[in-house]
Parts: sequence; C-alpha cells; structure tokens
Amino acid sequence: EIDDPATGTSSSRLAPMEEVKPTVKQIKRIAAHSHVKGLGIDPETCEALPEAAGFVGQIAARTAASIIVDMIRGKSMAGRAVLLAGPPATGKTAIALAMSHDLGDGVPFVPLVASEVYSSEVKKTEVLMRSFRRAIGLRVKETKDVYEGEVTELSPVETSDNSGLGKTISHLLLSLKTAKGSKQLKLDPSIYDSVLKQRVEVGDVIYIEANSGIVKRVGRCDVYASEFDLEADEFVPMPKGDVRKSKDIVQNVSLHDLDLANARPQGRQGDVTNIVSQLMAPKKTEVTDRLRSEINKVVDEYIESGVAELMPGVLFIDEVHMLDVECFTYLYRALESPMAPVVVFATNRGKTTVRGLDDKSAHGIPPEMLDRLMIIPTMKYNEEDVRKILIHRTEAENVKFDEKAFDYLSRVGSEKSLRYALQLIAPARLCAQTCGRELIEMEDVEKCTTLFMDRSESLKKAEETQQRLAA
Ligand code: ATP
Repeated sequence: EIDDPATGTSSSRLAPMEEVKPTVKQIKRIAAHSHVKGLGIDPETCEALPEAAGFVGQIAARTAASIIVDMIRGKSMAGRAVLLAGPPATGKTAIALAMSHDLGDGVPFVPLVASEVYSSEVKKTEVLMRSFRRAIGLRVKETKDVYEGEVTELSPVETSDNSGLGKTISHLLLSLKTAKGSKQLKLDPSIYDSVLKQRVEVGDVIYIEANSGIVKRVGRCDVYASEFDLEADEFVPMPKGDVRKSKDIVQNVSLHDLDLANARPQGRQGDVTNIVSQLMAPKKTEVTDRLRSEINKVVDEYIESGVAELMPGVLFIDEVHMLDVECFTYLYRALESPMAPVVVFATNRGKTTVRGLDDKSAHGIPPEMLDRLMIIPTMKYNEEDVRKILIHRTEAENVKFDEKAFDYLSRVGSEKSLRYALQLIAPARLCAQTCGRELIEMEDVEKCTTLFMDRSESLKKAEETQQRLAA
C-alpha cells in the first residue's frame, strides 16, 4: 500500500506553511544593511554602544529605538507609530531594520517607499493593507508526523526516455518496514541524488517527515522535497531502536502568507499550504476583506489555544510625505487594530504640504497623525563615523581597498555624502577588476568620482544650466 501523508488523517494537526519570505524588492533593500545585526544596546546601561552589532554612532536615536522595542514588548505602543526624521543616509532604514532584529528571530521587516502605494492596478489602501499583513508574523508550533522504518528496498526504476536514445531513471522505489507494516514510496529522481548522498542503504533505519511542503505528487503519495533537502544531520540513517514518532517544528508565517494560501484556487495549493485550509471551503480566488476577517478569526483561535503566537513585525514606510490624506486616514484606523505591526515612518523633509490637503504640516504629515507619533531625530555623521560605517560596508561586500584609496573614499563620504561614498564601492571594484586587480586603488575611486556625481553637485550643475538657458 502506498502511504498518503498529505491527506493525513488528523484534522487537528497543523498543515505546513512557508516561512515568511521577503519579496525580491525587499531583499535588495535589506541587502544594503546586511552588516546591521541589531541596535547594539548595552544590556547594563540600556544605552546604545558607540559601535556594536554593525551599528556606528547615532547613539541617541538607537537608544530611543530600543526603548520603543521595549514598549512594543510591553504592549504599550498600541495606536502609536514611530517617525524617524533626519537627513538622507543617516541610518533611518537601518534603525527600523535593527528594531525588527531586536524584536526576535523571524519577526518580519517590511520596507515600503510611500510612492509605491500609487499603482494603476491596486488601490492605495489595498497596498497598505497587504503591507500591514506582511508585517504581522505568526509563530506556529507544529508537530510533524515522522515515518520511521527500515529500508527493505531502494532501487532506481528505469524507463526509456522519450527520444528512445536511452534509459532514464523515472523514480526511486523506497520500501520501508515500519511498525505498522510496510510502506512503499516512489521518489522523484531529483530526490534520488540526495538520498544517495546520504548513503542510505538497505537495512538502515530512516525517518521521513510527512507534510513538509509538497513538491511532487506520485500516485496517491505526496513526496516532499524538504524531506530530502534537509541538512545532512537531519536526514541520516537513525540508529536502530531509536523510536521517533513526531517532531516539533516552529514555523514563521505572515498573515499575508495565509491570505494568499487561502485565496489560491483548489489544485494550486501545493506550494503554500496553510493552517486554515481545512476550515474554509470552497476556496476563494481573491483576497477579500471577508477572507481576511475569517483568517483573523481562525488565527485568534490558534493564539488563544496557544498553538500560535503573534509576532508583530516592523512596517517601515520611507518618504512618508508622499502619502496622501486618504492613506493617513486609513493608517490612523489600522493602527488601532490589535493585530497591527509597529509602523515606523521616515522622512528627510521639514515642513511641507500634506498631499491631498492645501495645508502645510511638519514632514507633510497631518496633525492628527503627528499626535500619535513618537519622533526620533537622526543626525549627520562626523568623519570618524563615516569611516567606520564604510569599513563595515566594505567588509560586508567583501571588497578590499588599499589604504590611500580608502582614506580618499572616507573623505568623499564626509565631505560630500555617506550615500555617495557607499554607492562608489561597487563601481570602484569593477574598475579594479577591469584592470585585473581585486584590490581597489586610488585611481579606481578617483575615476568613479569623475564619472558619477553626488546629489549636490548634480543639483548645482542643473541650476547652472537653467541659468544659462534663462540668460
Ligand atoms: P534615506 O533618507 O535616504 O532613506 P536613511 O536615513 O534611511 O536614508 P540608510 O539607508 O539607513 O539611511 O543608510 C544608508 C546606508 O548606510 C545603509 O547601508 C546603512 O546600513 C548604512 N548606515 C547608516 N547609518 C549607519 C550606522 N550608524 N551604522 C552603520 N551603518 C549605517
């Protein structure tokens, strides 16, 4: 008999889910901060250390952000949000990301640039809602069934390939003698290699996890790639007599993952299954408000029964002055929800017009929203800090500068801007590579400073051109 772990029998068991995965855009944005591992707070004094966890300086802002992290833990941030206000490249995004690190493992960080809410296909409030739900994590404890048995047969089954030129392996037959009798699993050839790598042989006692993310459906039997893509120490022949029936697995998902999983039409649910799929039939094809509120209800039940834990993450909205008054009204209400993430706004603007209103307001934020904000200023860096930040970045990007070139880059960073110096790293490396070197030299940095302009220089040039045209 071929076993069917996917349709499993127990309805109380949680089906598997995908981990919270950021989108490609988010990954790129987060990559620029890969050296930042947290706020770098001294546990004794509760103050930010001058240099820790990849962070340099900006001590007052980091200390303030860590107080917010404590308030979030103490659940006293409800209805409120944070605003990081300061010049460009003063670490606003980095601070928000570090807050999510300090909130705990698997806590989502969702970066959004305010102008992204304006799309021709999706309503602004829908974009905000999705981002909100992406930023709300759920940690689910799942007990997985593990099939344990002795391998009685392990043989590749060959078949002629379509071209008739030769034979290919169509599947691997794995027979297991388990406590309940014998089971046969037909494994996909792509899994075959992993099995061989693990040196599984007839006579070995092995275990196979059920329900770990369906990849291939073979007959009535779902075979899960992750069973065989497991780390080497996870999929090893187990010593005989070691009885292992189930395994506790902790998974992190976001509410948005659950929305998508449930909106998927039947038959396509294989890649993201979900905890509530059994409860909601028929499947819908769109994420609607109704579906979301049904999911919230089920999630509430899971939280109450202790199976899942809510992990509010950080929703970071950069260039907040780009949001219009409707967005603010929406956010104002959304912040009230018991399932809200921590919203961190950022701006480098002073007083400016609120979009959709005629009035000017601080940072382009309407006064009602400003009243709810805890505002943290960020300051420009001094030369020494710029140098240290550049050291962290070059290490993270695995780039080597000779001493003179690095001194020059640091000077450019403090005289022009940190962002400009950071942006010169990649092209300078390319220039060096073109000359057959890995080590970046002075000429590479100099060349890049002539090829690329910093923001203020470009502005000056544009103004000069304008004046010439007007004359
Ligand atoms: P903008 O206003 O332009 O959005 P920002 O204030 O959000 O800028 P970031 O993007 O956080 O600035 O910082 C620019 C780069 O410098 C990033 O790679 C960031 O990780 C790094 N950085 C900024 N401040 C620090 C710091 N204090 N320590 C270490 N790295 C930093």
